[in-house]
Amino acid sequence: MNNGLRLVWVYPDLLSTYGDQGNALVVERRARQRGLDVQRVDVRSDQPVPTSGDIYLIGGGEDRPQRLAAERLRRDGGLSRAASNGAIIFSVCAGYQILGHEFINDLGEREQGLGLLDVISTRGEGARCVGDVLADIDPQLGLEPLTGFENHQGVTHLGPTARPFARVRYGRGNGTGDGTEGAYNDTVFGTYMHGPVMARNPQIADHLLKLALDVNALPPTDDRWYEALRAERIAAATQPA
Ligand code: GLN
Repeated sequence: MNNGLRLVWVYPDLLSTYGDQGNALVVERRARQRGLDVQRVDVRSDQPVPTSGDIYLIGGGEDRPQRLAAERLRRDGGLSRAASNGAIIFSVCAGYQILGHEFINDLGEREQGLGLLDVISTRGEGARCVGDVLADIDPQLGLEPLTGFENHQGVTHLGPTARPFARVRYGRGNGTGDGTEGAYNDTVFGTYMHGPVMARNPQIADHLLKLALDVNALPPTDDRWYEALRAERIAAATQPA
């Protein structure tokens, strides 16, 4: 990182439902709170994706914008080149499916993804996965529990080189029935959590910053608001109906 942290928000014109753009705001703010110089770059789908970013964020979207985004990202190649340079990529829902090998598009056809995560998404036969989620993040990452909101028809199957990002206590996650939620591999992450997920889970934003800075810890911030929100969501998810 020569000129501070470069944060790239990929395709806000196609992939930013459910306030996913808030993830960029949270990462940016938490970096600034630690005195880091942040340059945020919003890349529309008619622009090339820069390859020199440190952290890339990609959100969720409806089925048609998801197909258009996958086509343009494949054609552009910038995000894949950034990944092979070791960039950190965090993706949500449609963005997560696009990072996998393939998903079912709005025309009911198999659409090729970028293959940056070893996952395949199919179309769920059952009810759409909609609602609040509470999940335990992979203990290897050492992060607080994940709370969020999901809304997807796709079901995501993990291949051998993808680790489950979390395991659900409440909610559906990847929708396969095996309790997994999201996937990751080194510096590439995918989740079904909207919300935006970072506003509910700043521990994820901090994890990305630590990876970008190659440090084990960051200076503390005042997180009482986030902690109160997490406690409220955990209580709501675990309350008997
Ligand atoms: N279109 C995808 C699905 O339903 C992703 C939806 C989303 O991003 N919320 O599975």
